[in-house]
Amino acid sequence: MTAVCLMSTYQPLALSFTRGLGTRLWDQQGREYLDAVAGVAVTNVGHSHPRLVAAISEQASLLLHTSNLYSIDWQQRLAERLAQLSGLDRAFFNNSGAEANETALKLARLHGWKKGIEQPLVVVMENAFHGRTLGTMAASDGPSVRLGFQRLPGDFIKVGFGDMTALEAITAQFGTRIAAVLLEPIQGESGVLVAPPGYLKALRDYCTRHGWLMMLDEIQTGIGRTGTWFAFQHEGIVPDVMTLAKGLGNGVPIGACLARGAVAELFTPGSHGSTFGGNPLACRVGCTVLEIIQQQGLLQNAARQGEHLLARLRMELDEHPQVRAIRGKGLMIGIELANPYRDLAQRAVQEHGLLINVTRGKIIRLLPPLTLDAKEVEMIVRAITRLLD
Ligand SMILES: *Cc1c(COP(=O)(O)O)cnc(C)c1O
Repeated sequence: MTAVCLMSTYQPLALSFTRGLGTRLWDQQGREYLDAVAGVAVTNVGHSHPRLVAAISEQASLLLHTSNLYSIDWQQRLAERLAQLSGLDRAFFNNSGAEANETALKLARLHGWKKGIEQPLVVVMENAFHGRTLGTMAASDGPSVRLGFQRLPGDFIKVGFGDMTALEAITAQFGTRIAAVLLEPIQGESGVLVAPPGYLKALRDYCTRHGWLMMLDEIQTGIGRTGTWFAFQHEGIVPDVMTLAKGLGNGVPIGACLARGAVAELFTPGSHGSTFGGNPLACRVGCTVLEIIQQQGLLQNAARQGEHLLARLRMELDEHPQVRAIRGKGLMIGIELANPYRDLAQRAVQEHGLLINVTRGKIIRLLPPLTLDAKEVEMIVRAITRLLD
């Protein structure tokens, strides 16, 4: 089938799936694949999880949508559960990651405005990715996201990811205008770039000292991906604001922005909203996903299998002349190559029945469902080793 009626924003492989179960997918010819992409860190509990299928089916037969003109029981439950798990206080629900980040950016503006800053600035990072709306695109880095869309909304200042010295330098220049810092704990789209040890903790202290909001975009790293509910939990810190999406709905669109303390009280009736955001279906799905992760011990599994996968990849590929670095946390792993390989993702599916993602042309990104087992770790290692032969 040709896609002449679709705007050409994507370049999909000539491959289409009809069914999924757990870590596996099947195409139109009935061929089986191992999924190490999970719809880009989305289907964390696996495809067609029976408990999720049951929850979706039941909720579809009861009630899909009523709007935020009425209170929504599942929305309150999901907010309460996310607050418990994160240590933040309140949530606002959206339909996507970009919208959740827009919500965070609006909180940063309100925070600045309350402090009497006339044009509040938000500090963002080199190589950041926060979404495709005008605001989140402006907060992102890199010409591939921004080219042709100028002028973008301003009021962002960019510093090096992991660079406290650069942050101190901009503080001297703009400090009194800065309202917040927005960053990903691990930069996913840029190729699984992990912050240097101690950076997030130092940044947390720095934000507190200056009265800036620390806003973490956990859209890709959250919901168990790195082996804890949220990546910040590895660091012994709590952000002021956190955004979620991807894995929270396991494929049903949902986004969330959480905040704590006074920041959680900044919005007042009428200052923000969404028609679909927080509807009964999406929020019941969110609650069910969190329950499944808890009851199946998927945080522990992601931590254990992630460590195992990282160690096995390093064992097989550390000496490989084309491998620059193998890095990541939990089941979020990047393999950076010295040079681009042709058709790597295409060859992985065709020759090995393995779905992988390749970002920035030469970084293999692995984001399998959190249910991955030891046998599947070996399947991934074997396929990638052969691909790079
Ligand atoms: C995917 C992603 C987004 C954007 O989410 P959408 O749902 O596509 O709008 C934002 N930030 C990060 C870190 C992401 O990985």
